[in-house]
Amino acid sequence: MATLFWLQTGACGGDSLAILSAESPSVEQLFSSHGVELLWHPSLSHHAMRHHDELIERIVSGRQSLDILCVEGSIVTAPRGTGLYDSYQGRAKMEIARELAVRAGVVVAMGTCAAFGGVHAATPNPGDCIGLQFDRAQPGGLFAPDWRSQRGLPVINVAGCPAHPHAMTQTLAWLAAGLPLKLDELNRPLTHFSTVVHQGCTRNEYHEYDIEDHQPGGRACLFFNLGCQGPLTRAVCNSDLWNGVSSKTRAGVPCFGCTSPDFPRDNDLFRTEKIGEVPLRLPLGVERPRYMAYKNLARAAAPQRVRDKEMEP
Ligand code: SF4
Repeated sequence: MATLFWLQTGACGGDSLAILSAESPSVEQLFSSHGVELLWHPSLSHHAMRHHDELIERIVSGRQSLDILCVEGSIVTAPRGTGLYDSYQGRAKMEIARELAVRAGVVVAMGTCAAFGGVHAATPNPGDCIGLQFDRAQPGGLFAPDWRSQRGLPVINVAGCPAHPHAMTQTLAWLAAGLPLKLDELNRPLTHFSTVVHQGCTRNEYHEYDIEDHQPGGRACLFFNLGCQGPLTRAVCNSDLWNGVSSKTRAGVPCFGCTSPDFPRDNDLFRTEKIGEVPLRLPLGVERPRYMAYKNLARAAAPQRVRDKEMEP
C-alpha cells in the first residue's frame, strides 16, 4: 500500500471538493482497489488532531513511511519570509510542508496554487505566495528547480483551479502503482496536460470560421472577444467532462486558463486583449501573420448555418 498524507496550505479547499466527484477512479476506489492508504486528509479523516500531530512527528522522524505527499494551496511566505501568516500551532505551514516533502517518495501539488502560486499569488500578492517548485512561471518556489523527492522526481504539478477530478485520482493511482510518469516542461503529467481545452469544445466549428460571440449567452466562439483561453490551455476539460456532463465553454463561460502558471491573469477574464483587431495571445504554436490570413479566408467561407448561429444543440 502507498501511504498518502494530504496537507492544506493557503487554499480554499476547492481541490478537496473537486476530487470527491471523481468517478474513474473515485476516491473510494483509490483506497479499495488502487493501493492507496490514506494517513490524513483534513476533510476526510475523522481522527482527533492529536493523531495528525503524531503522524507528522513520526513521518519527520522516519518512523512512519510516506509514499505520497499531496499539498493543496499556495505556500504563504509572508511576513518577511517567515510564513507565519499561514501557521499551525505556531509553526509556519511552509516549514511543515518542507519537512514532510523531504521524507516523501513523491510530492504532488494539487491545484494551481500549490503548483505555481495561483489565486493567492495574484497581484498584489499580500501573502508573498509562491508554489512548491515554481513562482508563477519561474522555476523555483519553496524548493529549488533541481530539488527531487525520494523517488527522484520533481514536484508533480496537477494544475487547475480546481484541478480536474480525474487528473488528481488517475495521477495518484498511477503513482501508487509505481509506474513512471512523463511530465511536460512545467512538471504537469502529460497524461492530462498534452491536449488543449479547445479540443472537444462544442464551439469549435464557430472558431474555425471565425464566428464570434460579442456578449455572453450565445453559441459561437468566445476566443476573439470574450477572453477564452481554450486554444492556449493544456487540460482535459472538454475531452473528460466535469461530473461527466459539462465544462466551462459548454456552459457558455470562457476558459480562464486555470492550469497555466500565469493564472489568474491581471486583466479582465471576460475580455480578449487585442493589438488592433488581433488577439494578443494566439492559439499555442500559431504564427500571427498566417493565423490572420487563415481567419480572414475562413470567415469569408463560413456557411450560412454557422453565420446564423442557429444550429440545434
Ligand atoms: S469557446 Fe474557447 S475552447 Fe471553445 S472553440 Fe472557442 S476558443 Fe476554443
